[in-house]
Order: sequence, then structure tokens, then C-alpha cells
Amino acid sequence: MHIYLNGRVIPRAEASLPIDDRGFMFGDGVYEVCRILDGRPFELERHTDRLARGLRELEIPVPDEAHPARLREVTARLLDLNGHRAGEATVYLEITRGAAVRTHHFPPAGTPPTVYAFTTQLSPMDTLRERGAAVITRPDIRWLRCDIKSIQLLPNVLAKQAAVAAGCAETVLVRDGIVTEASHSNLFAVVGGTLRTHPANHLILPGITRALVIELALALGIPVNETPVTAAELPRVDELFLTSTTSDVLPVVRCDGVVIGDGTPGPVARRLQAAMVERLAAGG
Ligand code: PMP
Repeated sequence: MHIYLNGRVIPRAEASLPIDDRGFMFGDGVYEVCRILDGRPFELERHTDRLARGLRELEIPVPDEAHPARLREVTARLLDLNGHRAGEATVYLEITRGAAVRTHHFPPAGTPPTVYAFTTQLSPMDTLRERGAAVITRPDIRWLRCDIKSIQLLPNVLAKQAAVAAGCAETVLVRDGIVTEASHSNLFAVVGGTLRTHPANHLILPGITRALVIELALALGIPVNETPVTAAELPRVDELFLTSTTSDVLPVVRCDGVVIGDGTPGPVARRLQAAMVERLAAGG
């Protein structure tokens, strides 16, 4: 397997980082995961836009690889070398503030960011998408800049681990009685025929799939209201589903042991799944 590190494509086993990389010391960096279908990155520009915004917000210099043309080149090279061109894959790109003597404040100007990328083959989640998933809820203990796709993921790691330990697919996060999103996906509810989801502010990651689903819903004539559901409403909603790059539209049929709707993926989730399949086939 080959990876990309700081301008070089090298065998994964040969990759190493300075011990004082700020990603390692402080979690000082951002990342992106973009889906790839038969070698074609899906909605790459939306991912690079979000990445560039995160870098700007954190005042990390924007490296070449954060630009779509260069990222396409790097991705194509990795897909070819790794035999990931056929079927579904993802490219992961991480950028940290680089390596420098440990200080909390930024390193000297001119310190080059660390840039790391790899591709993986994606195994389809068809069974779970068909049957629907079970989730649990936990308090959202993250910082107040969840809109930045930071590599500091400890609360997300703990939340996802709680789901795994409970035999569930995801953990839905609740802040002050309000459902924000999930450990690595956004959450939608259907209430009285309207799609509800948390607004794209500092409390959630503005998911690329979330944005696509909103566009697809509006095109299908499904009303969308970016007002979050409350934890109290959660057991009584008509439908629930998660969205993310790797899981698409994933219906939720059980939350904290309570059956949602009739316990099977709901009609709105199904319509959006079908619309997403078409959108993916059309490319991006
Ligand atoms: N929220 C969080 C916290 C995430 O980590 C992710 C996926 N990385 C998402 C939402 C979904 O975003 P996207 O649709 O861009 O994959």
C-alpha cells in the first residue's frame, strides 16, 4: 500500500513523522474524507471548500494539496498504485500545522504544514442501509467550533465507542436538550412530513451529504426546516436517518432501545436513498 506524505508517494511502511508534529502533540490540524466511485471523486470541490475554510479559521497555511486540481492528481496516483480504481473508495487528506519545538502558540512563520493522504477501498453498507440502524444518545461534550473538521476527535471517539459497546451503529449527541448531530454523521428527523435537522452553525459539522440531502429533498418537494429536534421529541419522530460520506442516507429504526416509526426505514429516507443513488451515478 502507498500513501502520500509531504510531496512524496511512498510505501506506507516507510512513512514516518517528526515526533514534534503538531498533529501528534496538539491535534493541531484538519482532515477531509471524500468518496470515490470508479476512480471519480464525488463532490471533491465541496470537500476542498470546507477544508480551505477550516484551514483559514485555524490560520494554517493552505497547501497545494488542498486545491482540487492537486488533490485530484494525488488521489489518482494513490488509486492506481493501490488498485483502488474500481468500485467504491475514499481518499483521506490530513493537514497539520507542521513540526516545530513544542509551544502552545503557533510555530515560526514559514513552518511547512504536514500533508498526508491515503486511499481505502470502501465496503458497501447495503445491509444496514436496507434494515436500518440502532443508535444511542449521549451528551455532546465537544468544543464550540464543531464546524471545523478538526483532527481532535476525542469526544467523537468516546461517543462512537459507546455505540459499539452497546451494539449500535452510532451515537446521537445531545447538547442542552437539543439534538446536534452524531459522532461521525449528521442527523435528520421527519416530523409531520417535514425534514428537520440542526442548522449548519458552530455546533455541527456542515456535512457534504447533509447539504446534498437538503438539495435532493427540496427538489423532491419535501419541506426542509433547519430547526433541530429536541431529545424529548426524538422517540416520537416519524423517521430518523443519519447522513455521511461513507454511509449516505442511513435510516435509524431504534434509538435508546425505543422503536422509531414502525421499526423499518421510513418512506422519506427511502426516497432520499434512491435520489442519492441517482446523484452518485451522475457523478460530481
Ligand atoms: N458530522 C461529523 C461529526 C462527522 O465527523 C461527519 C463525517 N466526517 C459528518 C457529520 C458527515 O459529514 P460528510 O457528509 O461531509 O461526510
